[in-house]
Amino acid sequence: MDEERLVMSGFREEDDDQESSLRPKTLREYVGQQAVKDSLNIYIQAARQRREPLDHILLYGPPGLGKTTLANIVAAEMGANIRVTSGPAIERPGDLVALVSNLSQGDVLFIDEIHRLSHAVEEVLYPAMEDYALDIVTGKGAMANSIRIQLPKFTLIGATTRAGSLSAPLRDRFGIIFRLQMYTTEELMQIVHHSAGVLDIRADEEGVREIARRSRGTPRIVNRWLKRVRDYAQVRGDGVITREIARQALAMLDVDELGLDRTDRAMLHTMMVKFGGRPVGLDTLAATTGEDAVTIEDVIEPYLMQLGFIMRTPRGRICTQAAYDHMRLPMPQEPRAQGRSEGQTSLLD
Ligand code: ADP
Repeated sequence: MDEERLVMSGFREEDDDQESSLRPKTLREYVGQQAVKDSLNIYIQAARQRREPLDHILLYGPPGLGKTTLANIVAAEMGANIRVTSGPAIERPGDLVALVSNLSQGDVLFIDEIHRLSHAVEEVLYPAMEDYALDIVTGKGAMANSIRIQLPKFTLIGATTRAGSLSAPLRDRFGIIFRLQMYTTEELMQIVHHSAGVLDIRADEEGVREIARRSRGTPRIVNRWLKRVRDYAQVRGDGVITREIARQALAMLDVDELGLDRTDRAMLHTMMVKFGGRPVGLDTLAATTGEDAVTIEDVIEPYLMQLGFIMRTPRGRICTQAAYDHMRLPMPQEPRAQGRSEGQTSLLD
């Protein structure tokens, strides 16, 4: 694979110019994640004083929370170049060898979806991370020889939606591990204000709040809704985003009061009605809703859990009273949310 395809020039394909103009460029502009920023400030300052690259960093959390943005900021704050790639793009060990041997001292290598690296590729990564070295095997059988090539000191930043699916040896090689949290409505409002400024969108305070409230704690979604609501305001209103305009525009997109969309509600409905509130296993849920199990775990569930709508029990997922209230459905007589003696509903597993 040629390096052009392996390394994207900083931002993801889905990002157009407008998207990248919305990305904060410095830690100061990066909204929220205060604990992460406080720690990073110290580590960056210390590394700069010692004139050393930063330790390897693992960022994890649901999509759209700002992992790629943070990696770019870390590189910028270190005054370093960043190379951006992803786990699935690095197909063979040779791809990784090509990548790391082209790095310069202090460079940041960002690998998105790092949990999707193959075992063979991970094996190459271990000495590269630990000793800044590559062990290249030449020849075969009795003639096999291993040569060690020294690499410039670089910083690997890995991002993943699921720290749990990273192999232990890989996880252990990160000196710094941060979990990104969902954003509060106030933090998302700051992001909307900033983005509205960049995109020249007029919005009043309540309009901004309405968009922030319905964005599942996720900056990527808040920016997406802002643009859709702007379109609506332009065509159906006088161009200014108000609370009412935001409500109407988001209702048209099937986004409810709390930011749940059709998929979220379909999943809750399935759990409540089809399974009558009994615990449901992930695979069963995936098969009955037609959603991928990974999507359910990484994208749908985190926000439902944050809202306290879903709980994981050893026998499967269950909906809480709050979820029934939101869906305006009666909770089954025996509150299964507390029932420990129930067996798991099992259609498939
Ligand atoms: P991830 O890599 O976690 O999927 P990204 O870094 O691509 O998420 O973030 C998605 C978008 O959300 C970015 O384009 C950026 O505009 C915005 N964003 C993310 N985090 C923040 C933040 N802390 N402050 C302001 N905007 C943010």
